[in-house]
Amino acid sequence: MDVGNRATRLKPDTDRLRSDIEALSGFVDETKPGWTRRPFTVWYDRSRNWLAERMREAGLTVHVDAASNLIGLLPGSDPSLPPIMIGSHTDTVTGGGRFDGIIGVLAGIEIARLLKENGIALRHPLEVVDFTAEEPSEYGISTVGSRGMVGNLPDEMLERTDASGLTLREAIARQGGSPEKLAVQARKPGSAAVYLELHIEQGPVLEQTGHKLGVVLGIVGIHRYRTTIAGEPNHAGTTPMSMRRDALAGFCEIGLAFERLCKQTYAADVVGTIGKLTNEPNASNVVPGAVIFDMEIRSLDTSVCEEIYRAFAEEASQIAAARGLDLRLEPLSKSEAIPVEPKVKERIYEACASVAPTAMLPSGAGHDANQIARIAPIGMIFVPSRGGRSHCPEEWTDFEDVAAGVEALARAVLSFDDAPAPGGEA
Ligand SMILES: [Zn+2]
Repeated sequence: MDVGNRATRLKPDTDRLRSDIEALSGFVDETKPGWTRRPFTVWYDRSRNWLAERMREAGLTVHVDAASNLIGLLPGSDPSLPPIMIGSHTDTVTGGGRFDGIIGVLAGIEIARLLKENGIALRHPLEVVDFTAEEPSEYGISTVGSRGMVGNLPDEMLERTDASGLTLREAIARQGGSPEKLAVQARKPGSAAVYLELHIEQGPVLEQTGHKLGVVLGIVGIHRYRTTIAGEPNHAGTTPMSMRRDALAGFCEIGLAFERLCKQTYAADVVGTIGKLTNEPNASNVVPGAVIFDMEIRSLDTSVCEEIYRAFAEEASQIAAARGLDLRLEPLSKSEAIPVEPKVKERIYEACASVAPTAMLPSGAGHDANQIARIAPIGMIFVPSRGGRSHCPEEWTDFEDVAAGVEALARAVLSFDDAPAPGGEA
């Protein structure tokens, strides 16, 4: 099939995308700062009604699944093939921006329109999904809808309550879902040909390197640990320097050692952060007796996270011993990295590079793709975030850049549609 010829006809309408983004991001909770649209609220409901209408106009058949995801379906010419899925989310964090998530859903709708306007029929069905509650919800759970779609929303999560006492199960039902059907509707591995998501980068790399598009190499794994440094609290005026067991001074040395270890060169890119710390007793006239801090290490290669942690544990123990401090290390949580299959990466790169200057980069943040990876090969395209900023009112991506992302995504869809078994090749 002539992918090249068909692909060049799929030119997104930048003005149409712009007015879609402005309209959808305009459904905001005016009692909150920024562009806030929390899931399971009246504002979310209104935006979803608007979105369902746009899906229908684009020729998609609309339904809400058991997990309350809003899904638009375009049938393919070969009913035996699994769907190509395009998705993202339209909820925001409190005080969020206008692009995170919503461009990915609107991209799917724009692609459906372009296919229709150009008389192009796909072999695979195309599903455009607005996943419910991707951002951390009032229930302490993120990626609620994508979890539900793949059967990863256990009863323990469904029974959690928000501040008003409403359970997640009830919230999903109010949003149009059918929690009692979650198990029977749970999708199995292989039930989608490929899952594709267009998202803002939420970091500064594309802008600073002059690239317009980014092919995501994978979604990083996150290892979190807690460290307790115990010394001896004592009078800050009467305890000589040579006789102190100062936990905070020990932390300073240990914290810098962690930063140095994370800055070394490893087999894969890595970032490490100490973002939370307690100092006891935290009084200006007392030598600190204990410091407890949480650190996290993120990389596409989780063996690198482990390598850094091992080196850290050794060095921290030496520093503590030299200062007469006690050290306790405990793991908090580990999430595995989500790889993008090489063949999927190549196809997406080809599609992107034919549209605009393209970089390859990891995703340092989690997405619905983390969950959908349980049932299908996943791929993501990033567009630049001005100043690398997101989850704030200043979040911005130029509309031309969004359009380039949609065009690349459209080309990727055609390419996967022509592939014998997307992601399944050698
Ligand atoms: Zn997002």
